[in-house]
Amino acid sequence: MTTPIPSQTSTAAHVGFGAGLRALVVEDETQLAELVASYLERDGFEVTVTGNGAEAVGLARQVDPDVILLDLGLPGLDGVEVCRQVRTFSDAYVVMVTARTDEVDTLIGLSVGADDYVTKPFSPREVLARIQAMLRRPRPLHEPSQRPDAAAAPREHRVFGDLVVDPLGRDVWLSGEPVALTRTEFELLATLSAQPRMAFSRRQLIDAVWDEAWVGDEHLVDVHIGHLRRKLGDDAITGRYVRTIRGVGYRMGTGR
Ligand code: CA
Repeated sequence: MTTPIPSQTSTAAHVGFGAGLRALVVEDETQLAELVASYLERDGFEVTVTGNGAEAVGLARQVDPDVILLDLGLPGLDGVEVCRQVRTFSDAYVVMVTARTDEVDTLIGLSVGADDYVTKPFSPREVLARIQAMLRRPRPLHEPSQRPDAAAAPREHRVFGDLVVDPLGRDVWLSGEPVALTRTEFELLATLSAQPRMAFSRRQLIDAVWDEAWVGDEHLVDVHIGHLRRKLGDDAITGRYVRTIRGVGYRMGTGR
């Protein structure tokens, strides 16, 4: 069952944070889905709700959401599989909702590509705050009007051997070929490449890319670094672009 919730237009006294942004809520507990949807809506998001996993994949393609709140236990297709499939065509932020804390560790180990995890029962207000924190950092590429300085600012290209990072355009090239990164992967690379001589701890990367309030398994960083390395043709041993600093965390590599 799909329930597209129309966005409010008449009563909005202020422009919410989510104005112009789309959210997909995938949750089979109808009451919880509606509660979360109402919070997002009040914040200005255009919200689409579904309780079915298979339908969620189709909706993600159709709606092209900026953020997906994804329940793990779903009829049709479970959250892990939905996330895997959505990841093949979307760089939306995915917040996975689990019923038990210990599931989070398992999920991080499975490296399904979610950007954040929350455990039930959760406060919709807190989830909204986390979503806002995630979305606050990257500005969508297709909405240059939100970056009035974009046209005027000089283009900065960070070069590391064959790797080029353009933080403003949010583009990455490897040997002249564009590299498609998820937002989280891009944010990690942008953070590391901004201070290439600095070794970042996992916690520092979490503060920079997720949120200072983020609480959870810091291993989440390793998973996203692993994905990033794979896309850059890197691995833990060579670390041409992303180096492991033993006992600390990660540092940008020179490309050699
Ligand atoms: Ca469920």
